[in-house]
Amino acid sequence: MQILLVEDDRSLATGLCKALRSEGFIANHVAEGKAALHTISVDPPDMVVLDLGLPDMDGLDVLRKIRSSGSSVPVLVLTARSSIDARVSGLDAGADDYLPKPFEIPELIARLRVIERRLSATIDSRIEVGDVALDTIARQAFYKGEPVELARREYTVLKSLVENSGKVQTRDQLESRLYAWGEEVSSNALEVHVHHLRKKFGSDFIKTVRGVGYTVRKP
Ligand code: CA
Repeated sequence: MQILLVEDDRSLATGLCKALRSEGFIANHVAEGKAALHTISVDPPDMVVLDLGLPDMDGLDVLRKIRSSGSSVPVLVLTARSSIDARVSGLDAGADDYLPKPFEIPELIARLRVIERRLSATIDSRIEVGDVALDTIARQAFYKGEPVELARREYTVLKSLVENSGKVQTRDQLESRLYAWGEEVSSNALEVHVHHLRKKFGSDFIKTVRGVGYTVRKP
């Protein structure tokens, strides 16, 4: 799960990102509303944690713009505005959940897990492309009906490709699903994962689009 944290309080953001990563989430952080909207349009996260008090825009306006762009990405709103009014307007503007500051980090993680489970339940859990199938709830891959063991990052690359079959996934898109921003990525890490996936699913399954990225297609 890739989470975009929109929070201008640096020390809170740093602590939250660290906690989210230790829970296995990929956490990226922006401090302003415009940066959040840009990121959501070019590299959509699985969930957004949105502070309402941002320096450049009201968080509720950020939320309205996310929704009016047609995105249904789950948004959990954080705010010091603890009044009932703020809560209602947050939910009216399209928030999925609401956590008043100050909060305990385990409480935030628990709320995100609830959203994560809801997401998994609404997404069709089985995706098939040719001989390759994925059960995204069990996080299990199959080749010609037989289960295949995958390392965590191999699974993430494969899932991203089969969810977008017929479309090209750029190197940047794939790497952003594997690593948080600023995390050290060796230049050939993606190639290594693709190499392992080709060994497991046949050399023709993942096609290289030279200079761009990779794709899979239904035969
Ligand atoms: Ca703030």
